[in-house]
Amino acid sequence: MSYKNELKTSQRVLMGPGPSDAHPRVLKAMSTPLLGHLDPEFVTIMDEIKEMVQLTLQTKNNLTFVVSAPGSAGMETCLVNLLEPGDEAVICIHGVFGNRMADIAERCGATVKKVEAPWGQPIDPQDLKKTLATSKPKLVAIVHAETSTGVLQPLEEISKMVHEAGALLVVDAVTSYCGAELKMDEWGIDALYSGSQKCLSAPPGMSPVSFSDRAVEVLDNRKTKVQSWFLDLSLVKNYWAGAKRAYHHTAPVSQMFALREAYRIVLEEGLENRFARHRRNHELLRDGLEELGFEFLVDPAYRLPMLNAVRVPKGMDEGAVRKQLLNEFNIEVGGGLGAFAGKLWRIGLMGESSTPNHVNMLLSALKMIMK
Ligand code: PLP
Repeated sequence: MSYKNELKTSQRVLMGPGPSDAHPRVLKAMSTPLLGHLDPEFVTIMDEIKEMVQLTLQTKNNLTFVVSAPGSAGMETCLVNLLEPGDEAVICIHGVFGNRMADIAERCGATVKKVEAPWGQPIDPQDLKKTLATSKPKLVAIVHAETSTGVLQPLEEISKMVHEAGALLVVDAVTSYCGAELKMDEWGIDALYSGSQKCLSAPPGMSPVSFSDRAVEVLDNRKTKVQSWFLDLSLVKNYWAGAKRAYHHTAPVSQMFALREAYRIVLEEGLENRFARHRRNHELLRDGLEELGFEFLVDPAYRLPMLNAVRVPKGMDEGAVRKQLLNEFNIEVGGGLGAFAGKLWRIGLMGESSTPNHVNMLLSALKMIMK
């Protein structure tokens, strides 16, 4: 490739840990002529997006918006706004992204206590209970769908414990959002962030975020300025305040067009139908992979439907086969992350990439390679 040539990329089938494939309607929306980001038409589009974030998170939270940056910025938004130097935070760690939250919380000047589970297992609520008995954290943060291990973390029991301890519950729903049940209000989640590129199947680079009234109260009572200007919600929230909108930054206009269309597709399908589709295609893939000798890392009760973490069959060179899948079949699957690098595959069936055709394409390619 050379910059002198028009951009032309391979047509990949995205079955890694994200981004997932985007619907042609989403790609078409991105090529809509630009609007100014303070144009009343664009303000209406942002209002519509906000309403669709609320519907898909099953929340009435007024402070619901989209950060103009990827999931990691959503993570940082939640933590830098809620934590001040000297606060205590309990961070649950069962994979790469829990570690990232702990790192950010420490950078906020918080004292961090960690509750850990072996990678491939969820956090045991009893371990959190022990930590809460000897601490008084301002917040507890946990990953709902740990993309590095394929674990779905049950949240309801944990939410109760966190609130009994008088703390806020912060949840990473980057991978679970729009692919598995997630009830922000019913489950008592106080601050939540996600990403656009997983089960929502929009382009990467945007992060839906929502704060409960309790979390907003904490924001309003801060003693110190948020250390990040860009992510400071006391400024950002005015940008999502409908007609009263005040300039904060220049929104990624084309990305928002795409996001709007991706949300419309989610709502047309219906959340429950979408969750059921993710489960069905996961089961189809599971049966096919097990026949070929792959083994799932996670106990069936805690398996993510949209991210399948599997050990490759004995004797298979995982890196070489992944390369072959990409180069010969245009199929992307993910390798292991962190402690699992070189040991695992992470096969995504997210959003538009969760179809029987995707499953059958991958299984057929694997059968040909393994022959
Ligand atoms: N949290 C989880 C669970 C993720 O899977 C990811 C990305 O894969 C992130 C956070 C960070 O999101 P991004 O890569 O969009 O910054």
